[in-house]
Amino acid sequence: MRKVLIAGGGIGGLSAALACARAGAEVALFERSAEFSEFGAGIQLSPNVVKILYGLGLRDALHAVVAFPDRLQVRSAITGAELGILRLGDEIASRYGAPYLTIHRADLHVLLLAAVQQQGGAALNLGNTVTGFEQTGADVALRLAHDDVVHGDLLVAADGGWSSIRQQLLGDGPPQSTGHLAYRALISQARLPEHLRTRQVTAWLGPKMHVVQYPVRGVDFVNLVAIVHGQVQGDMSHWDHSGNAAELQQRLAATCKPLKDLIQAVPAWRLWALSIRPPMRFAREQASGRVALLGDAAHPMLPYLAQGAGMAIEDAAVLARVLAQGGLFSDAGSSADPATLVPDLLRGYARQRWQRNARVQATAIRNGKIFHASGLMALGRNAVMKIRGEAVMDQPWLYGGV
Ligand SMILES: Cc1cc2nc3c(=O)[nH]c(=O)nc-3n(C[C@H](O)[C@H](O)[C@H](O)COP(=O)(O)OP(=O)(O)OC[C@H]3O[C@@H](n4cnc5c(N)ncnc54)[C@H](O)[C@@H]3O)c2cc1C
Repeated sequence: MRKVLIAGGGIGGLSAALACARAGAEVALFERSAEFSEFGAGIQLSPNVVKILYGLGLRDALHAVVAFPDRLQVRSAITGAELGILRLGDEIASRYGAPYLTIHRADLHVLLLAAVQQQGGAALNLGNTVTGFEQTGADVALRLAHDDVVHGDLLVAADGGWSSIRQQLLGDGPPQSTGHLAYRALISQARLPEHLRTRQVTAWLGPKMHVVQYPVRGVDFVNLVAIVHGQVQGDMSHWDHSGNAAELQQRLAATCKPLKDLIQAVPAWRLWALSIRPPMRFAREQASGRVALLGDAAHPMLPYLAQGAGMAIEDAAVLARVLAQGGLFSDAGSSADPATLVPDLLRGYARQRWQRNARVQATAIRNGKIFHASGLMALGRNAVMKIRGEAVMDQPWLYGGV
């Protein structure tokens, strides 16, 4: 049995552990935190991602906790007018073979963790910080804090946007600050007045800002993310900053009454400074030798296409498929040169992933410019949405892909 080492137990790392263990690998995952946890906020899961999660056996577990929004509505943050809609629900499910879902991050994390534990074959090591690696023709050695070393056939770096493995592999410095800030909150629908409750995804667009809201935990909670332009001081690599509600209300003072009412109804926000890398330019940024990069470690992106976790899950599924089809977990690979088999397979993984990831990264950047437009550009955006309708909001290359 071949051993897959995974650094990081976020959504990407757990997806990789599940997909590889199901493919027949022995998995050892190392997570620096003392317990598995995810910050309480929402994630949109588009059909391309839901299809993979169903394939990993998670359909029933997902359906117990997700919301099934019936449409995505785009509104002007200034006037409140509807600019466009994309029908989700049965419409998008029949087009792409899986529904569009929204979920609490912690719920997704918990169900992935439960599935890994139920699957077996994966050792989950908490409180283990990865400090570096060495690769040879025969294996890869992963260094952990306290000088422990573990050996495996390959290493999956799923250690997030500030990946230390990426730094050792590519040496291309930390992600770049974008000057965009995300305020995030969850609020119980029961605490909201009737007119602010929602069962759909709504994106409010305005100059240098946008707000997205959607239900999670069935429809018990609303997830809210408000994006504004600005800078903050200090280390923003963790979700441990509280956002100032009065400051956000001030920043959104010029928006329409329904949006202001919604923002004012939220007592507490978390604040995150968005950092990204430019869209991937080479396959080597996705894998090199015995090391595969996955999720935010490979392609941290703006959340303006709602695909960061989605691409991590796609990476995981493709990685496991390529390794299994290449015979790594079966007798089929036993006749291959052990020095080249894993690097060759990881090159195949990188070739299958990097351009799609780059396109998603680039589209998210472009969306930011469109969402935050003002003046003539905003008028043009609104006119195009009116004339072309759903066609501008649907993403067949993305939702029907992988
Ligand atoms: C405002 C906002 C909204 C978003 N909305 C969406 C959305 O709607 N849909 C979507 O698909 N995506 C969305 N995303 C993106 C998504 O949250 C991320 O892309 C995704 O969580 C990345 O997962 P990951 O596992 O690659 O990285 P992470 O979640 O960062 O996990 C990395 C893990 O590695 C661990 N780690 C780090 N260093 C080490 C080390 N040295 N040793 C051991 N462990 C280590 C960390 O503790 C962590 O557990 C959004 C992001 C933001 C900021």
